[in-house]
Amino acid sequence: MNMVAMQLEQVGQPLTCVKLVLPVPREHEILIQVRACGVCRTDLHIADGDLVPHHLPLTLGHEVVGTVVERGTSAQEFAINDRVGVPWLAGSCGHCRFCLAEHENLCNDIRFTGFDHDGGYAEYLVADARYCFHVPERYDDMHVAPLLCAGLIGYRAYAMAGDAERIGFYGFGAAAHIISQVARHRGQQVFAFTRPGDSRSQDFARSLGVTWAGNADARPPAELDAAIIFAPVGALVPQALTVTRKGGTVICAGIHMSDLPAFPYAILWGERSVRSVANLTREDGRAFFQIADHIPLKTMPIPFPLTRANDALNALRDGAFDGAAVLIP
Ligand SMILES: [Zn+2]
Ligand SMILES: [Zn+2]
Repeated sequence: MNMVAMQLEQVGQPLTCVKLVLPVPREHEILIQVRACGVCRTDLHIADGDLVPHHLPLTLGHEVVGTVVERGTSAQEFAINDRVGVPWLAGSCGHCRFCLAEHENLCNDIRFTGFDHDGGYAEYLVADARYCFHVPERYDDMHVAPLLCAGLIGYRAYAMAGDAERIGFYGFGAAAHIISQVARHRGQQVFAFTRPGDSRSQDFARSLGVTWAGNADARPPAELDAAIIFAPVGALVPQALTVTRKGGTVICAGIHMSDLPAFPYAILWGERSVRSVANLTREDGRAFFQIADHIPLKTMPIPFPLTRANDALNALRDGAFDGAAVLIP
């Protein structure tokens, strides 16, 4: 049997629509018929060569929702016909110092969906069942797909902000629009920073109930306890530090970021910290989906047919929409 996939054959080139033989699940793997696959900024970084893929051709996509159609001999976590979610974390070694310390997100032999393994820009994919999730029933396929990375890794970054009362989000895209709803639900004040002059995204943020929305170079009406930088722009780090209180944290949530400019020590002084967030653990997934099952999160997917994956990537690159693009086979 054959399937259609949108593959990256060469970095910097559009994806190519190809026919491939259906993959066969190995011992711990399941074969999944894809129902929806979210388009993440990381996909753009891989397609553009900011993150160098380990092999080509490669099928992108790590926000996958689908149906289990076949199982490897030891893949007991899901039954045939179960709905399943496939995230960015595709596998870890289980025995390095990081895996043993519940930091599988930092594993020395970590593997990623749509990067090391073929992902969900296809009609089918195989995934290690031990790293897949049962996703909340309250969401349909298209609405749950963006939760699998934007939601999940956004949540890990959000958790780093601890009990911040006032929390800033730099870049109000797929991750921020989901996580701001979690923060609002918990009674935290959200400050949304967008590209200067991007009044459409600022209005979008206000429609989700944020306390304040403005330009990334603006001073918000109150000092922040924590700031999360979702935009891949290193220059935002000093900007965020200048509006974060003493002892506060600036969290870089993206897997790729442009270089950080030099900045005066005075804006870091006062026990402010800057840290990054890498990938996710399965425990993050379980915690986040429990919350997503409890709070009705609006994910605002923009559907694209699978074969129009290039249009979806270009629209994301151009900042042409709010919410999250989702490919539908
Ligand atoms: Zn992602
Ligand atoms: Zn490991």
